[in-house]
Amino acid sequence: MYRSTSCNSLRKEHIGQTVTLAGWVNSNRDHHGVIFIDLRDREGVTQVVFRPEEFPQVAGQSHALRAEDVISITGKVSPRLPGTVNAKLATGDIEVVASELRVLNKADVPPFPLDDSSVNEDLRLQYRYLDLRTGHMQKNLRLRHRVVKASRDFLDEQGFLEIETPVLSNPTPEGARDFLVPSRLNPGTFYALPQAPQQYKQLLQVAGLEKYFQIARCFRDEDLRADRQPEFTQIDVEASFVTEKDIEDLIEGLLKRIFKEARGIEIPTPFPRMTFADAMNRYGIDKPDTRFAMELTDLSDVFRESQFKVFRSVLDGGGVIKAVNAKGAAALLSKEQLKKWEEWAKAEFAAKGLAYIKWSSAAAGTVAATPPSQTVSAAPSPQGPFAAWESPIVKFFSDTEKAALAGRMDFQEGDVLFFGADKWEHVCEVLGRVRLRAAELLKLTEGGGALNFLWVVDFPLLQFHVEENAWVAVHHPFTRPKAEDVPALEAGDYGKVRAVAYDVVLNGVELGGGSIRIHERDLQAKMFEVLGVNAEEQQVKFGHLLKAFSFGAPPHGGIALGLDRLVMLIAGASSIREVIAFPKNNRGMDLMTHSPVEVAFKQLREVYIQSTAKKP
Ligand code: ASP
Repeated sequence: MYRSTSCNSLRKEHIGQTVTLAGWVNSNRDHHGVIFIDLRDREGVTQVVFRPEEFPQVAGQSHALRAEDVISITGKVSPRLPGTVNAKLATGDIEVVASELRVLNKADVPPFPLDDSSVNEDLRLQYRYLDLRTGHMQKNLRLRHRVVKASRDFLDEQGFLEIETPVLSNPTPEGARDFLVPSRLNPGTFYALPQAPQQYKQLLQVAGLEKYFQIARCFRDEDLRADRQPEFTQIDVEASFVTEKDIEDLIEGLLKRIFKEARGIEIPTPFPRMTFADAMNRYGIDKPDTRFAMELTDLSDVFRESQFKVFRSVLDGGGVIKAVNAKGAAALLSKEQLKKWEEWAKAEFAAKGLAYIKWSSAAAGTVAATPPSQTVSAAPSPQGPFAAWESPIVKFFSDTEKAALAGRMDFQEGDVLFFGADKWEHVCEVLGRVRLRAAELLKLTEGGGALNFLWVVDFPLLQFHVEENAWVAVHHPFTRPKAEDVPALEAGDYGKVRAVAYDVVLNGVELGGGSIRIHERDLQAKMFEVLGVNAEEQQVKFGHLLKAFSFGAPPHGGIALGLDRLVMLIAGASSIREVIAFPKNNRGMDLMTHSPVEVAFKQLREVYIQSTAKKP
């Protein structure tokens, strides 16, 4: 027997019992020849003491113990000496006086101290099996288990069946590049790893399974700039005879259960709903963080007759003028910094500029935060209320315009206003990002435990892709147009068509999204046609789906939640890599196993592949 109990189970009431524990040496201390070790297993830590006066031989052996050695000890549970009780530790009242020690395996010195949070991530990933020994990683993986278990339990109770779908599958358009797998048995052909089980889960509805779910691994061959992984996990759901409301209710129930079981908190439902148009207009993004306001405000009417040529020509050309008020940011943004923000807006979003008005506070404390060169204009001015405004454009505004915009924007001393003047979409996008950046600067979301859930609905069905000179599906090609917008679809007015699609958002992060699907063969074919897939191609790529729809496909819809991101948010982790046991780094590499690797010529030949990659 390696152990009779765990390292987190012994309390005062066990004093006097003889126990056997096993685990890793977490730390060791030598107190005048008496060795103390903290013995660690998955459950916790227990102090073990080797007393030379009682068990000289075992105590002698204990001197050789090092961190991360794997041992098993037997001994008597004893009270700690007065003054050495550790109230922070669940087992802090007791220690085990070892009478036997078995060294199960010695450990080399670890490449980094396991409890050091400043260790370089590459090193952690290279030795992931050591990194996963740390308390916070173990906690994250446990949490992930709880979330998955709660999901399975909840969906099972709702009558959903967990059904696996192929990993070797066919390409399905979800907007990313496919990972391909060559088929040895069918020379020259390839499987694609699923970007999502989208077609299969719909075909399960045609098959009459009615309620499907899967904790599904998905694969997307994307550039991994953001916090993404080439393989990730979704809680994937599809059901028949459902409306948008049914899916929303189901997912609210699911998230309620997950947050209850994983974090012990009740989240209020139903979640607020916001249309895509509203989200863009007010927050400049399709996943608004509603923990703070700082909304985008339209000022087009204020400048309709303006003498300021830049604004006027934008308005005359059908564009808009919007602004966002970074309340209290004046003290944090010097002229140089504002210049940097402008450069960022230009580089990142091809913005023409980022006009601003800064109204420095005259109060001594805040003035001190701005460079001396600027304190002059920050002082109260004898020349009227607008004289303290620092701005590259304000000299072009009339006093009426200034008063109107100040009123509309609640612009006050200490604030910075940012302007956008361009096409509506572009202005929303730029100011939406400015809003987030300002919120970060002002630390608006730090420390608060708010959980702002939100449904964003009525997404556009199609979007015109300038580079491809084609219409592309905003969600995916299987998404249903809103019934009232079908005439617009038929009339070719694609930009007007909205989808029965919904995203669930938490604190500005998209947790998942889905849609009610097209279940009619002809409408699906029409949709493919709009997307530039001609009849022949439709047969080759989607013939199976179109055919299936002609055999009595029920109305159906579904959703997928990103499990990694959800667990990350619940754990309060900074990256999804913190909640994935063996993640890839941002170049798609597993630093522990060194994948991806080169393979031998022979292996490639067997799958009819010849590499064209040039060796560096
Ligand atoms: N397959 C979709 C996705 O992965 C989700 C859905 O429509 O259910 O985003």
